[in-house]
Amino acid sequence: MLYFANPKSEYIFLKKKIDKKIIKVLNSNSYILGNEVKTFEKNFSNYLGIKYSIGVSSGTDALILSLKSLNIKAGDEIITTSHTAYATIAAIVEVGGIPKFIDIKENDFTMDVSKVTSMINKKTRGIIAVHIYGNPVDIEDLVKISKKNKIFLIEDCSQAHGAEYKNKKVGTFGNVACFSLYPTKNLGGFGDGGIISTNDKSIYRKIKLLREYGWKEKNKAIIHGINNRLDEIQAGILNVKIKFLDKFNKKRKIIAKKYLKEIKSKHLLLPEINKNKKSVYHLFVVRINKNLRSKFINYLKTKNITCGIHYPIPNHRQKPYLKFKSNLLITEKISKEIISLPIYPMLKSNEINSIIKSINNFK
Ligand SMILES: *Cc1c(COP(=O)(O)O)cnc(C)c1O
Repeated sequence: MLYFANPKSEYIFLKKKIDKKIIKVLNSNSYILGNEVKTFEKNFSNYLGIKYSIGVSSGTDALILSLKSLNIKAGDEIITTSHTAYATIAAIVEVGGIPKFIDIKENDFTMDVSKVTSMINKKTRGIIAVHIYGNPVDIEDLVKISKKNKIFLIEDCSQAHGAEYKNKKVGTFGNVACFSLYPTKNLGGFGDGGIISTNDKSIYRKIKLLREYGWKEKNKAIIHGINNRLDEIQAGILNVKIKFLDKFNKKRKIIAKKYLKEIKSKHLLLPEINKNKKSVYHLFVVRINKNLRSKFINYLKTKNITCGIHYPIPNHRQKPYLKFKSNLLITEKISKEIISLPIYPMLKSNEINSIIKSINNFK
């Protein structure tokens, strides 16, 4: 069976190095905030070309700590999209913020930035921009809007490690950037993890405190904080895997290019490419008429291909978030049409060909 993602295949490919690293950590007698985390933070900062990175417990926690570092409090409004992982919204609500949803653009699923300014009022504190599916949002426009209105800009890069907007890596545009390191992500451990990057020294310092009980030094707290640490085993694995991130992203791009060229189905709408945006294809999402979607998915299942839907219920339709009134026509429309095809670095050529053939044979 071919799935839309396959993190185990990355383990198999890197087995020797990863096994060696895990054994090294186990023998080090240092399991929390040791050399592996420090090294990974350095490696990640170097990869992005940014000053500071802080390893944390998950992508969700990366968002929560970033919002806390910006002093978001109850009633503060945060502009974002409903068409994102549940975690983006959960983080806003967790700190007492109110998500203000902007619709997406039908051509590439990213935030319709032309609608942002009219949403800004006295309560607006910031924007969380999501580079959804690995494809950059129109981030330059958002930088301008956030500066002009003196609100912060957080980039949710959880699906976009290594993606570029006008040849500059995403995660380097806003005040602070959050990355999930969940196993299926373009850079993922084999457990939970996340990392926050910023060029702002005061944000960096605050997040470092927040990550561990508000401790300035061991057992000496200066602000309230809890435990949101990244562990040494995950960091060790990530130090192995980050060396392969560009190579793996390149493979995703090659697969996407092949899909774009060779999928010829009157039923499917393929993702659009934009010369300013270098997607890293965390997901390859196509659209189909909503009345055909389950038929198409079931048909592919008979060919041993399991697709995904990211996401079947838009966040503003999730029960806890119904109270945040919104009118999101495109988000709702495409949530019934989207399908995520298999795309991951270890997908083999014959598998890609068989996926394309099966899709093209769907009547
Ligand atoms: C995966 C993801 C998250 C959450 O990350 P976790 O590590 O699972 O907590 C947040 N935002 C987006 C866009 C994601 O894809």
